[in-house]
Amino acid sequence: MAAATADVVIVGGGLVGASLAIALGGSGLQVRVVDPVTATAPEQPSYDDRSTALSPTSRRILEALELWPAISGEAAPIRTIHVSDRGGFGVTRMQAEQEGLDALGHVVPNRVLGRVLRERLAAQPDAVQSVTARVESAEPGPDAVHLTLDDGTDLAARVVVAADGTRSALRERLGIDLRETDYDQVGVVANVTPARSPDGRAFERFTPEGPLALLPLAGGHCSLVWTVSPQRAEALAALGDADFLAALQEAFGYRLGRFLRVGRRVAYPLGLSRSARRVAGRSVLIGNAARTLHPVAGQGFNLALRDVAELAERLHGAGRRGEDPGAPALLQGYADARESDHRRVTAMTDGLVRLFSNRLPGLRLARNLGLVGMELLPGARDGLVRQAMGRGSRLPRLARGLSLESQHG
Ligand SMILES: Cc1cc2nc3c(=O)[nH]c(=O)nc-3n(C[C@H](O)[C@H](O)[C@H](O)COP(=O)(O)OP(=O)(O)OC[C@H]3O[C@@H](n4cnc5c(N)ncnc54)[C@H](O)[C@@H]3O)c2cc1C
Repeated sequence: MAAATADVVIVGGGLVGASLAIALGGSGLQVRVVDPVTATAPEQPSYDDRSTALSPTSRRILEALELWPAISGEAAPIRTIHVSDRGGFGVTRMQAEQEGLDALGHVVPNRVLGRVLRERLAAQPDAVQSVTARVESAEPGPDAVHLTLDDGTDLAARVVVAADGTRSALRERLGIDLRETDYDQVGVVANVTPARSPDGRAFERFTPEGPLALLPLAGGHCSLVWTVSPQRAEALAALGDADFLAALQEAFGYRLGRFLRVGRRVAYPLGLSRSARRVAGRSVLIGNAARTLHPVAGQGFNLALRDVAELAERLHGAGRRGEDPGAPALLQGYADARESDHRRVTAMTDGLVRLFSNRLPGLRLARNLGLVGMELLPGARDGLVRQAMGRGSRLPRLARGLSLESQHG
């Protein structure tokens, strides 16, 4: 039986794969999103109990894709980011007002993002279709990549986008190496309710074990990402809710009053993993499959959405001009355009983890001086703010809030 063909096959319909598929609606390209886990399934890894801090650039991309109106009702604005070192004297604040913005970012529960993406995927034109299956094998050829799915079907794709997460099976099949740095840290994630509403304030507190982030959520709740050693994560998991809240109180202090409640707790091993290449022939790696970052600076999805904006723009252009969307030069052009943003965000995130997880007394002094310096020297702080907000590099059309349709009009 002849294989079905598609212009673009996106392997993985998580946050990143689904966003790309939506951005490609209207490009005239035949797009297939292949994922064994439907977006509603409880085990869907992208749409779990986490929340995501979206940068203003990500918001603009979601606006340009007309997704933001469905998200904004459940998005909590971040108006201040308060950065401190436990037991140290350095504190720095980043304020939306100082940046001339209404918000430095917005925090959205992943389940909300999942619901909105799923609904929009279901409403895509016929050219964009979802396939519930797992990709079992990939065979790159000169004109197409040949995929075999676990339901027995074959698919030939002019370009394959691997958006299948950190443990990307597609990356392995393509023979692309993964470089991994294990920080020996675990992120304990939960929603917590403090006595005082966070009211637009996000907190990043660096403790000897690792950074602790509390992000504001709608309804006076907070999303906690507490980075600890694997041993400490196990000990925390064994605690009842009251004891867990007491431990959190000790680590965070009383800036939000007493912690009253905690929801389901989930632990994620944290590291940095980078694929040796992000493009190989007619294949592109994107999202966690290309690069998985420590969540300390909330950059993983924001970086990936900027990739989505750049890649979608180039694929749209090829689709409209009737050109080959998998032409290796087009894909390499995409990877080159995104290289400096990747380097900067990775270096900033890795640097923050290393600087703030280290117990050496000299470093502790240095980072406190660093935080004080950032407060006194707005230039240094503004660099961090710009990076955190996704304004560090040249922006593709979607990231400037422009639709991809209008570029051809
Ligand atoms: C604790 C924590 C907090 C975070 N906070 C933030 C934040 O505040 N801001 C931010 O920008 N980022 C944040 N991130 C990062 C963000 O969550 C990731 O960037 C994002 O989840 C990556 O999504 P993805 O679609 O690339 O991968 P995934 O979410 O892993 O999705 C992969 C998809 O591929 C599918 N799949 C797997 N194998 C196959 C196969 N063989 N065939 C077909 N499909 C397959 C899976 O079913 C899944 O749907 C955080 C991460 C963590 C761990």
